[in-house]
Amino acid sequence: MALVVQKFGGTSVADPQKILVAAQKAVARHQAGDQVVVVVSAMGHQTDVLVDLARQITDRPSAREMDMLLSTGEQVSVALFAMAIQSLGVEAVSLTGAQIGIRTDSTHTKARIKSISTDNVRNFLDDGRIVIAAGFQGIDQHGNITTLGRGGSDTTAVALAAVLGADLCEIYTDVDGIYTTDPRMLPEARRLPSISYDEMLELASLGAGVMHPRSIEFAKKFGVKVLVRSSFKNVPGTMILSAAEATPRAVSGVALAKDEALITLEGVPDQPGSSHALFSPLASSGIAVDMIVQNVGHHGLADISFTVPADDLAQALEVTQGVAAKLKARGVFHDASMAKMSVVGVGMASAEGVAGKMFSALSREKINVRMITTSEIKISVLIARTDGPAAVGAAHRAFGLEAESAALGTDSSSLPLRPSSPLEVVQRLEGMEDLAVEDCQLDSSQALVTFIDLPDTPGVAADVFEEVGKAGLFVDMIVQSHPREGRAELSFTVPARDRDRAIEAAGRIAKARGARVADVPHVSKLSITGVGIRSHAGVADRLFAPLTEAGINIDLVSTSEVRLNVIVAAEHGERSLAALRRAFGLA
Ligand code: ASP
Ligand code: MG
Repeated sequence: MALVVQKFGGTSVADPQKILVAAQKAVARHQAGDQVVVVVSAMGHQTDVLVDLARQITDRPSAREMDMLLSTGEQVSVALFAMAIQSLGVEAVSLTGAQIGIRTDSTHTKARIKSISTDNVRNFLDDGRIVIAAGFQGIDQHGNITTLGRGGSDTTAVALAAVLGADLCEIYTDVDGIYTTDPRMLPEARRLPSISYDEMLELASLGAGVMHPRSIEFAKKFGVKVLVRSSFKNVPGTMILSAAEATPRAVSGVALAKDEALITLEGVPDQPGSSHALFSPLASSGIAVDMIVQNVGHHGLADISFTVPADDLAQALEVTQGVAAKLKARGVFHDASMAKMSVVGVGMASAEGVAGKMFSALSREKINVRMITTSEIKISVLIARTDGPAAVGAAHRAFGLEAESAALGTDSSSLPLRPSSPLEVVQRLEGMEDLAVEDCQLDSSQALVTFIDLPDTPGVAADVFEEVGKAGLFVDMIVQSHPREGRAELSFTVPARDRDRAIEAAGRIAKARGARVADVPHVSKLSITGVGIRSHAGVADRLFAPLTEAGINIDLVSTSEVRLNVIVAAEHGERSLAALRRAFGLA
């Protein structure tokens, strides 16, 4: 007998007819001998309707009352769903978040789950009933009703599956799985049979809006198998699993975050503490910073660029201008018309030439790349918003994603980002959704090569990485800072033993482009891995703060959903590692 959690989204329970169809799915499972917990969202667009009602009363409804209001949507649908199951002759009981015992913090309208009690649900299941749980809601320590943020029913479903030790969490929705990119934008997009948690985390937060990103964090932390499938079509769907179980591919998907705004703090003193001075007040204002790129800095001055959702631009600018005045920076630049395209693949780290292929594809479309950051499983570029769709098409074609690609012959034990021991990490947490830092590692095996004064024209990155690929160099981190006065700075790391070949290739390219090359033969790369790194505001600053205190200058930074990397001078490696381990409470 298996235990299965089934979640039905708003479109799947939009009217009584659809509720009856969904109820049949739950009943079929139950009749096959499984225990079934169903999580439902509000019917159709009911939550929007409620939000609109509130707006008609006041522009600034109190968050507590908002939660009281919004939670009613799910209360309606669970009751109807339970009646539907009962009408099919099976016993069912509906429960609100409070009745289940879903405890959250008190951040109304975007509460995080702290704990879930399982006794009540288990008793009903053991009694032979199907339990219908209201998605999206919980209760805080004072008994107030809370909600988890729009789209939060996914998170309820996966969290329940986690605490109940469910064998599977099925997400029934209006799409039939996870696609290589958004099929509404690119019809050639293809459904993936499986995808790993880390890839899904990157894609979900990058705007592939099929699932609530926080639900994937739960899935990864607790190892919940999630199957995303259609409510309306009987097709297999997409299984979300651990990297060891999913098919490794160099590139699994392409995502476009359409509404990014860029801010550059220009000409700040290149010394310990500048990043901290900027990202600490941003974090305290609750702004979730996305890409962070700092150039290597010359003449003692560096530029720090970062992106935020376009909606947060005004607030982020205000904070940055304040910091600029304090640091006596040269100025603040911003551009609200950007998009971020990312290619994601868990096998990327062990495949060759992924960067070269992608930059060449963009170059053929004459798309100018404004900023680049990479992680072990992702390459992100910042481009003009108007170039977004063309960029996605070009990258999708370059990696042959329209056809079922041959899986890499990678041995999964060599894959990056294997959680050391997720459950052990989780046990240390106070709340189920707290930031979970798994590990901090030091890699002192790399050299850093930097192009200074590269012309800011389409195709430069393509040339560089084509040449680098031809030279057989295995590139790890790539960072391109935001161009200033038509010139950009592009850095990459290679294994230190390849340094001579890298400099030789770089020298050739630089000469042809009128740029210069600088290099550092040995650098230290520090990586922090975990779950919730991007969804918790201020994690980047928790990394900058201890390094600042230790007086260590940061040369390069790259961020992703599951990892934060910084490069510091080789001689500071061990000291940085110790400082970070202390700061994140790692033994
Ligand atoms: N009903 C809530 C919303 O529309 C939660 C959900 O659907 O996941 O955001
Ligand atoms: Mg949803």
